[in-house]
Amino acid sequence: MEKKIIIITAPSGAGKTTIVKKLLANMPVLAFSISAATRTARAGEVNGKDYYFMTTEEFHAKIDENAFAEYEMVYAGKYYGTLKSELERIWADTRIPMVDIDVKGALSIKEHYHDKALTIFIQPPSIDALRARLSDRGTETQASIDERLAKAQYELSFAHEFDKIVVNDELERAYEEVKTLVQDFLNIK
Ligand code: 5GP
Repeated sequence: MEKKIIIITAPSGAGKTTIVKKLLANMPVLAFSISAATRTARAGEVNGKDYYFMTTEEFHAKIDENAFAEYEMVYAGKYYGTLKSELERIWADTRIPMVDIDVKGALSIKEHYHDKALTIFIQPPSIDALRARLSDRGTETQASIDERLAKAQYELSFAHEFDKIVVNDELERAYEEVKTLVQDFLNIK
């Protein structure tokens, strides 16, 4: 099987996680690429399932080993990265990595993998809709919501650099659109 990659990016709160979970549940060929991250785990998050949680020292050691396909400081002092070993693990299992990362990470993977990678940007209908979703989620402090909104404004300006843009106006519709894009890219139905 060809070593392809699906990359999904969206500002925090744009509904990306729901779409990604649904795709993974309905398309067994896809496997979630577990990122390394230095932030603390949220309630319910499991190490080795949601993220490979690391200390900053451990993360820097991986950088020195050239172990990352890409990494970024996504939020102040918080590193996130895609391990090459994670992509290889999934390909060895004859599946396709579904990579859920930020804008810069997505574009740097695309730069490296070109036509082997499909980049999809999930766009919230508006910044107000995003603010409402982040508040409703109840997992973030006001400072964290403000930081995520500022980052979202910035990220929206990169949407046109992605292969495809899907507006998440209505979840089910957006999901179907993403699913079709992925199926076309992988030549499956
Ligand atoms: P969260 O803290 O909400 O789990 O994730 C914050 C942001 O980090 C999200 O936009 C997510 O897409 C991004 N992210 C997660 N893993 C990676 C990664 O491996 N690399 C990069 N560049 N961003 C990531």
